[in-house]
Amino acid sequence: MARYTASVCKLCRRVNEKLMLKGNRCFTPKCAVGRRRRVMGRRRRVSDYGLQLLEKQKARYSCGLLERQFRRFFTLAEKQAGITGDNLKVLLARRLDSVVHALGFADSRAQARQLVLHGHILVNEHKVDIASSLVKEGDTIRWRESSTKTEYYKQLLESIQNKTVPTWLSLNRETLVAQMVSLPVPDEAGIKFDSKAIVEYYSK
Ligand code: SF4
Repeated sequence: MARYTASVCKLCRRVNEKLMLKGNRCFTPKCAVGRRRRVMGRRRRVSDYGLQLLEKQKARYSCGLLERQFRRFFTLAEKQAGITGDNLKVLLARRLDSVVHALGFADSRAQARQLVLHGHILVNEHKVDIASSLVKEGDTIRWRESSTKTEYYKQLLESIQNKTVPTWLSLNRETLVAQMVSLPVPDEAGIKFDSKAIVEYYSK
């Protein structure tokens, strides 16, 4: 699967916002946005189109998706009944890598994607190594048996005790078995962006 491989901090600087793409490092003084508040390039008045583009880029960078992948989710959201922007938020939150991140199994979405791609995660007892696969209401998510022997898992068992899990997910902190108890509501989907601006961007 094609993916962005350059520095993710560059993406935060590009939109001049902390997108929290590097997990714990984002909370330290090493964060590039904290150190360099200047927007890259010349200052100029931003048009409506520019603002819509910026919002779309923020959402896309936050999810670690290329344009083609992000657009595919938008098209899917458009085809569903209801408000397209809300559908988009929910669909992005239902991606397996997003769910693994929301459960606290990984510090960043990129790390969550790696866990999925390397086959550490089972959905309904089956290995799923496609980060974009959508988790459904009632699905169970857990670690593959052999992955529970790793040092990473052992450390996670300790660190996850202090992490909070969104209300649409349940997590047993002893076994790290989780379930999507309901579909996420758009405001709790965990990815903050102005969905209206994105809908306007794509409707041009
Ligand atoms: Fe963005 Fe995190 Fe890098 Fe800061 S440390 S620029 S929030 S990815």
